[in-house]
Amino acid sequence: MAHLKLLTPETPLHDACLRLAEVYSGVEATKRYPLYRWTQISNDAAVLAEHVRRRHQEDDALERVAKLLARLLEFVGYNLRPVGSLNFIHDNRLLPYALLRACLVRQSAKHLRYAPKSESLTKWVVLKYPHACSKCGERPCHCVVTPWVFEERRENPGPYLKFPQSVEKKQCRLRKEDWQDLTLKGLFEFFHAIYRNTLYQQDPWKTAFHLSEELGEVAIELTRLQTLCVIDNKTLGDELSNIQEKVKNKFDDEIEKLRTTKRLKVGDRSKIEQKWQKNFKASFDDLEAASTMPTDWLRERWGLKQISKNKARDLALRLYFAEIITRKLKEELADVTSWLVAVTYAIRPDKRPTGELAVGPRAVLTTLEGGYAKKAEKTKSLGCIWCNQAPCSNGCLIRNSMSDELMQEVIKF
Ligand SMILES: [Zn+2]
Ligand SMILES: [Zn+2]
Repeated sequence: MAHLKLLTPETPLHDACLRLAEVYSGVEATKRYPLYRWTQISNDAAVLAEHVRRRHQEDDALERVAKLLARLLEFVGYNLRPVGSLNFIHDNRLLPYALLRACLVRQSAKHLRYAPKSESLTKWVVLKYPHACSKCGERPCHCVVTPWVFEERRENPGPYLKFPQSVEKKQCRLRKEDWQDLTLKGLFEFFHAIYRNTLYQQDPWKTAFHLSEELGEVAIELTRLQTLCVIDNKTLGDELSNIQEKVKNKFDDEIEKLRTTKRLKVGDRSKIEQKWQKNFKASFDDLEAASTMPTDWLRERWGLKQISKNKARDLALRLYFAEIITRKLKEELADVTSWLVAVTYAIRPDKRPTGELAVGPRAVLTTLEGGYAKKAEKTKSLGCIWCNQAPCSNGCLIRNSMSDELMQEVIKF
């Protein structure tokens, strides 16, 4: 393995993702299912919550945040690392990791002029948080000024409407430099600029809970993606009309609610309805195309040729849903990143709502630089935080997990 540079605060995020992916490229035991990796990330969050609960364990908590961040970056890096063609179909089955990767590299934000063509964590973060809060569209965030507007947006959408519009405007106004890859340090500063007014006031346990919630959202999407892979070649096609009917009924209910709500201006009401109807039609038309002309659809959308006719419809449907799932997943990964930053500030607040890098982020960056290193060499290079090797191996995973199990068995009181 080539000598990999350490992760410094100035390391660009995408480089950090790729480098960590390389360090852990040898741990094949976790490479079959994406959920396996994600469970490790969720476990980290559970351990973090426990450190936060015991208030005196702040150093441990911040070290855990660093490990969580590194795992997240590695997860993204493994999925986005450049490889040749991605064969995600094997014996007419979809391979979960290969499918995930094939979906994640598909270009997002095509409608935004300066958005980069290739995918990265920074791109997903900037898309969801266009240098402004993802809910109110302001920097610094103004959500705290009228929290009820956001809490009651389903029941009373009127006062809320201007906010998504403001976010959309911010997205359209993003300049080329706004999409530039963030550095590790820049990631903290990015969210600090948006949420500096709330970061210092938050209770650490609340932020840790929120982070867990976001990790759960990712787990839901990954579970659904894996379901599409393990499902037999018939069920989805058989269920399609039920799926469509269910959505149609729910959609009609929502439209009915929208039409009868008194708390909305007539103009706003019809504007929302038009937008929803347009979305509905676009999604259903696309699904119809995948279902009725699957070979054309697969060729046009996925560049897949030579799929036998009797397999094509099933495959097209699975890919249709896989793509919807991964679009959501990218948003959720951006949210995870945002809450990970928030919890870092919340664990050790320094009471100074300034623009400076606070105690928490500095501790996390120090662990990333000093902990993820090959210790044996004179000039330090990147390595696993547990075994200090690069690449890390299945041996490291099994050594640590099984010795832990055995120890717990032995030292019972
Ligand atoms: Zn806000
Ligand atoms: Zn290791």
